[in-house]
Amino acid sequence: MDKSLVVYNTLSRKTELFEPIKPPFVGMYVCGPTVYGDAHLGHARPAITFDVIFRYLLHLGYKVRYVRNITDVGHLENDADEGEDKIAKKAKLEQLEPMEIAQYYTDRYHFNMDQLNIKRPSIEPKASGHIIEQIEMIERILKRDFAYISNGSVYFDIEKYSKIGKYGTLSGRVLEDLQSNTRELDGQNEKRNPFDFALWKKAQPEHIMKWHSPWSVGFPGWHLECSAMSTKYLGEFFDIHGGGMDLLFPHHECEIAQSKAANGKESVKYWLHNNMITINGQKMGKSLGNFITLDEIFSGKHELLEQPFSPMTIRFFILQSHYRSTLDFSNDALKGAEKAIKRLFEAYDNISKLKPSKESTVNIKTINDNCYKAMNNDFNSPIAIAHLYEAVRIINLVKEQKEKLTSIDLKLLKETFDIFLFDIFGLKKEDSFLLNDNYIEKLMKIILIMRDEAKNKKDFQTSDIIRNSLSAINITIKDTKEGTEWQIEE
Ligand code: ZN
Repeated sequence: MDKSLVVYNTLSRKTELFEPIKPPFVGMYVCGPTVYGDAHLGHARPAITFDVIFRYLLHLGYKVRYVRNITDVGHLENDADEGEDKIAKKAKLEQLEPMEIAQYYTDRYHFNMDQLNIKRPSIEPKASGHIIEQIEMIERILKRDFAYISNGSVYFDIEKYSKIGKYGTLSGRVLEDLQSNTRELDGQNEKRNPFDFALWKKAQPEHIMKWHSPWSVGFPGWHLECSAMSTKYLGEFFDIHGGGMDLLFPHHECEIAQSKAANGKESVKYWLHNNMITINGQKMGKSLGNFITLDEIFSGKHELLEQPFSPMTIRFFILQSHYRSTLDFSNDALKGAEKAIKRLFEAYDNISKLKPSKESTVNIKTINDNCYKAMNNDFNSPIAIAHLYEAVRIINLVKEQKEKLTSIDLKLLKETFDIFLFDIFGLKKEDSFLLNDNYIEKLMKIILIMRDEAKNKKDFQTSDIIRNSLSAINITIKDTKEGTEWQIEE
């Protein structure tokens, strides 16, 4: 079958045939987290979206170099050029080294991503480890006269850039609108134009993360790291640049301008952006009280959650809508996803129990083809999932002997699940379908009732077996006046 892939390019606003620059190699860069707090739902969506894209490209036989950065310096509070560095601020608050904060939250991020079964990228460069590359890039931009030095800081010159490129193309913003919307902020007087952005910022004396540069002791602007690191690891022109739609402006707009100014040409062939997540129809935000971390989702410990939801439920829920559509989280929607994924796994388990017939009454090849067709159409996971449900329906009909399948078709059916459910969608069976805290509690109640029964009958051998077996899996029990208490030893 035809396995040609089309992708929607945010820059051209068109669906384009995916043709890598140097096949079979594909270079993919995705903006990673700024590591100053726990990963939340907003992190899960781009991570899962680009993990599935990474997995699908690998499945199609491409050799993918996937670079996802860690921002550990230069991301200021207001996402522009003003305010405190997010990591430095947290470090001051906690009286820690900024790199302790960055390491701690990088480790936490990796832990959550592992829970979501997200493949680690090929390279995960840190902004603080690429100061030299960033300084070199600024020098190139200055040499080509697309930036200027002002009071020890270096700013990108949007007006000069307009001779070779159009600032605002990606996000569809018009420069004149930007100008009229820009508020006078502290430090703006250093800029020739309010919408110029910092490539290098001179550090105030109290600033803790700073480096020597030809212009001042300071730090790089947030947007610069991605241009410098993508150029270093993927070259001046690479295949895919991804990220969340919240990064379109100013972050990706600035990246496009910087790279073109430094290298004299476009840097990215396909720009891919995932849409945002809302919670009960509302934008997610700390001030709105609906900011949910992944730990809170997995443990159920958040006032908006009626129960815990497992990492695979979250993963499946995100894949149930197309990455370019908005996605609304609610308890009901998540409960639906929890049930739906269970049905898929049950059906998968049933395939091996089906008896082959001499002939097939349904066409499995079509389902397999349709799954590819959906993924080849800009990674349309919800449509591919719908075709897997068609397979579930067939499995149940074969089980009830209302339809028949040959052993070859049964094999193809299993293969289709293996490829799409496990390899491409990255789903896996998890104990937590059953073993959330609630369930263990219920099971322990039953076990302790049985132990009490045994003791009442003076069957101490059985009650000891129960105690010792529990102890062997680190559950200790203690008899008190109020009854038997139990706890899981760490
Ligand atoms: Zn970036």
